[in-house]
Amino acid sequence: MNDPFKGGPWHPFAGLSGFGPPHVERVPTEPLQNPHWLAWNQSLARLLDLPAEPGHEWLARFSGQLEELPWCTAYAGHQFGVWAGRLGDGRAHLLGQRQDRNGIWQEIQLKGAGHTPFSRMGDGRAVLRSSIREYLGSEAMAGLGIPTTRALALVGSDQPVMRETMETAAIVTRVAPSFIRFGHFEYFAQKRDTAKLKQLTDMVVQRFYPEAAHHPLPALAMLSRVVERTAHLVADWQAVGFCHGVMNTDNQSILGLTLDYGPFGFMDRFDAHHICNHSDSEGRYAYSQQPAVSEWNCVVLANALWPLIGDEQATRDVLQAFRPAFERRHTRLFRRKLGWVREHDDDEDLIFRGLLLLHEQGMDFTRFFRALSRFSLDDTSCPVWTGDPFPREEAWSEWVRDYRARLQWEQSGDAARHLLMQQTNPAFVLRNYLAEEAIRAATEGDTSVLRRLETILASPFEDHPEEASWAAMPPGWAASLSVSCSS
Ligand code: AMP
Ligand code: MG
Repeated sequence: MNDPFKGGPWHPFAGLSGFGPPHVERVPTEPLQNPHWLAWNQSLARLLDLPAEPGHEWLARFSGQLEELPWCTAYAGHQFGVWAGRLGDGRAHLLGQRQDRNGIWQEIQLKGAGHTPFSRMGDGRAVLRSSIREYLGSEAMAGLGIPTTRALALVGSDQPVMRETMETAAIVTRVAPSFIRFGHFEYFAQKRDTAKLKQLTDMVVQRFYPEAAHHPLPALAMLSRVVERTAHLVADWQAVGFCHGVMNTDNQSILGLTLDYGPFGFMDRFDAHHICNHSDSEGRYAYSQQPAVSEWNCVVLANALWPLIGDEQATRDVLQAFRPAFERRHTRLFRRKLGWVREHDDDEDLIFRGLLLLHEQGMDFTRFFRALSRFSLDDTSCPVWTGDPFPREEAWSEWVRDYRARLQWEQSGDAARHLLMQQTNPAFVLRNYLAEEAIRAATEGDTSVLRRLETILASPFEDHPEEASWAAMPPGWAASLSVSCSS
């Protein structure tokens, strides 16, 4: 078989490969039986200089038939706040890296291509259901302009995989400049292997945080950048009503990317304490907890880096920057969501009061902000925007009065504001029920819903009248869906 990656810069995996066994192993895949295409991401393929219409040799590769041995890495982590020991790429195989059209090296990884030395009790597989969710979830996030790993290909099979019921196996091909997690640092720290911890830090600094190399303590400077990126990422999530679901330190990217799409969810009705992961009985990863939990994860990373830093006050200072970084970005994003261009001292109060009303009345988060994007200063009624009932209309009238006054204060013009807000407040997010519709159809061999959703989610700020129902109030059955860790 010819190497389909030939043509264009393509290099074997360089990132962690220098570590060698037992930390990084070259492991054969177990290709899928009778593979078939479910999705091919044409725009990402273009970015990577790959063909728009992939042939059978690509199907072979993305179903796990490889010419050279891929790489799997060990990492560790805290899961639900508890040290979980050694984990690793239990079902992920890194093929190598490729330079994209912007000159950025992108790693390409198969998820679900069989056992690895890090599989523990797992079968190394990913089911169709969770692979579709990961594919659509990462592309929805990219469409919203939020940092994320990407999804290039999705291949299905008739290979049975046992979960709660019998399902079929699939492979999603993921793309990112790096899949290194906080847990990679915890892994070497826990082994007290300071030389390897330093090697890993130096490599990440050199490749991704070169400005930190000139600092007297590069690990501290890197930590500072990671803290900022992590705080910004979680603010971005809050602003689109996204819950990750499993914010364990092994799922926290060192680049501040959304990583490892499992039981995630974009909220329909706004509930500040929404728990999207059915397995998270304590609500550790509820929407309202996400900022605090990612801050906690940064503390875990700081602990892991401690042998390279050794300066307590400086570490504290870096970690204490998380809150203000989060809050500044959160306020900035919600200002934009509300169409405010200038800053006013009372903004946070008015944002909070609006969110509280959304929460108390369980209103649809996405539809509220999208509908508000057409708010007219001439309309003096309290418009019923979303299709939700308004059980406490007098509270809303008050908020709307203050909101209108706030717009008048900055002499906001309807037309310019509508434009800004419509580019900020998406009409479409990957609601759970939409992913479910794509999964149900694909299970029956119909990938049309998946393809249409992929198209819409790539430009979620446009109205797409042909798919207006996907921007409407979700159907009744949407509220009864539940998503768990099983994948
Ligand atoms: P996750 O909860 O998906 O982040 O996975 C936690 C750990 O379990 C990671 O090290 C995964 O690689 C591993 N894992 C999850 N599912 C499987 C599976 N089906 N087979 C092998 N390893 C898995
Ligand atoms: Mg994971």
